[in-house]
Amino acid sequence: MIQTLRDNPQDAEIDSHKLLVRAGIVKKLAGGLYTYLPLGMRSLKKVQEIIRQEMDRAGALEICMPILQPAELWKQSGRWESMGPGMFRVKDRAQHDYSMAPTAEETVTEVIRNVINSYRQLPVTVYQIQWKFRDEIRPRFGLMRSKEFLMKDAYSFDTTMEAADKSYMAMFEAYKRVFARCGLKAYPVEADTGDIGGKFSHEFHVLAEAGEDGIAFCETCGYAANLEKAERKVAVRNDADCPAYEEVHTPDAKTIEQVSKFMGVPGSAFVKSLIYNADGKPVMVCVPGDRDVNDVKLKHFLDVKKLELADFDTVLKASGANAGSVGPVKPADASIRIVCDQALKGAKGCIVGANKDDYHLKNVDLARDCNIADADFADLVVVRDGDICAKCGKPMVIKRGIEVGHVFKLGTKYTDAFNAVYKTDDLKEATMIMGCYGIGVSRTVQAVIEQSHDKDGIVWPASVAPYQVCISLLDPDQAEVAAVADKLEAELEAMGVDVIVDDRAERPGVKFKDADLIGFPVRVVVGAKGLANGGVEVKRRDQDKSQMKIVAPVEAAAAIKELLK
Ligand code: ATP
Ligand code: MG
Repeated sequence: MIQTLRDNPQDAEIDSHKLLVRAGIVKKLAGGLYTYLPLGMRSLKKVQEIIRQEMDRAGALEICMPILQPAELWKQSGRWESMGPGMFRVKDRAQHDYSMAPTAEETVTEVIRNVINSYRQLPVTVYQIQWKFRDEIRPRFGLMRSKEFLMKDAYSFDTTMEAADKSYMAMFEAYKRVFARCGLKAYPVEADTGDIGGKFSHEFHVLAEAGEDGIAFCETCGYAANLEKAERKVAVRNDADCPAYEEVHTPDAKTIEQVSKFMGVPGSAFVKSLIYNADGKPVMVCVPGDRDVNDVKLKHFLDVKKLELADFDTVLKASGANAGSVGPVKPADASIRIVCDQALKGAKGCIVGANKDDYHLKNVDLARDCNIADADFADLVVVRDGDICAKCGKPMVIKRGIEVGHVFKLGTKYTDAFNAVYKTDDLKEATMIMGCYGIGVSRTVQAVIEQSHDKDGIVWPASVAPYQVCISLLDPDQAEVAAVADKLEAELEAMGVDVIVDDRAERPGVKFKDADLIGFPVRVVVGAKGLANGGVEVKRRDQDKSQMKIVAPVEAAAAIKELLK
């Protein structure tokens, strides 16, 4: 049941997605839904087995929780609302609401609070490998962002912060081992905690052009953070005083780029001003003209639940002008809160929107001319290449990554909501401290392919390859030749190596192409001509033809074992 395809699937944008489908690893059923074909199932199981071994080694206990989760659990944590349309919801025949697990913090807290009641039973970390469901806005890239995916989710429960830190570090170390054993180079990076809540988290990223996340790296001190969270250091400004501000007519110039061209000054001389709707209240956000607002940082700084760019009407009411001419000097709504990126502290002589259509103001001194509280200057922009590391002061570089895992310190967000308490040794009640830890198992399979392929196909690491060895049997109808392949297959299996024999009635070229496309770590060619010349051909997938070896059939198994090391 191995089906390889010559053509790339139409919806595939990245190499690993194309290869997954062409090599017959998965088959698409519908958008964001895939069947794991026999080859894919084998790799998925191998990744699971590595995860299981490392979770067990770290002392975590395997459980399995229901995929259907009663709505009451989500209402108790407040996430029935906040998860929004990203959560699949179903009703039973009695009209009771359920979710199809997008994650399981609520369920596990309910389970643990009913199982654990004494400090003597703590600490405990439980995990499951279970299907998760998310109605992603844009399911894409194959298994990378699908509607249904396999996740390993673990949860730790502790009595003290120090103990919780230890549980977190145990998972952190286990994750490093898991990804290394899958043949992946994965980097831990500081990350935002998002909807799950909590105070502290690391994502594990596989670097790849196709990655959806930007990551700031400091190669000097090792600082690494998701762009959602990455901070930068800004120099203290020493701007020269400027004369009083004046209006400049800037007809037909709406964007900073257009106005900067029109006025002949660089974008950095501008202050970009945007009106946001923050939990229903308008807020003006000012950043240097050549910078982008980081919505995640802004949301944290404002401490709001819902944040979006304001609509036309709100902008007009707040500023007095349309979006292209908004600025911090005397907006129509004099009471609007203005928050500014830290780099604008002490900015003088800047150009801002005049709150009057088609006009800007020049020579603005933010402290002199605007009403901005000192405490409303904060780090609000997206870090970019060359920005200065907040830790060590050296320049950072931006790379792209695929998030394969995520570890969080949750604190008591869920254990408070569910009253998950235990009896202390002096018989008082205390709340458990929690952590949660996810690995995208199916995404990891594809990340391996994204990191390890060439123009001919996948180059599987031996640990997660569907089969470690492919024997291409060139003359399957010649009994003596087939017998050599059979014997070698049996020897390899006895050595614990998984092997597949390609005994189809196909031309050698087709067999070689398929073996390269699927990417078995070692290829063995058994054919009448080769045997007459003294042996079988063995070659690792990542070696070129010139490195192919001819070995006598009796020595083949040992030679293959050597290549797999
Ligand atoms: P992302 O930012 O990529 O959407 P997330 O922060 O929503 O991920 P978590 O809730 O932390 O992800 O889930 C744990 C892991 O599950 C992630 O690290 C990722 O590897 C995987 N994952 C999340 N969403 C999907 C998806 N739609 N398809 C496949 N894997 C996913
Ligand atoms: Mg997500």
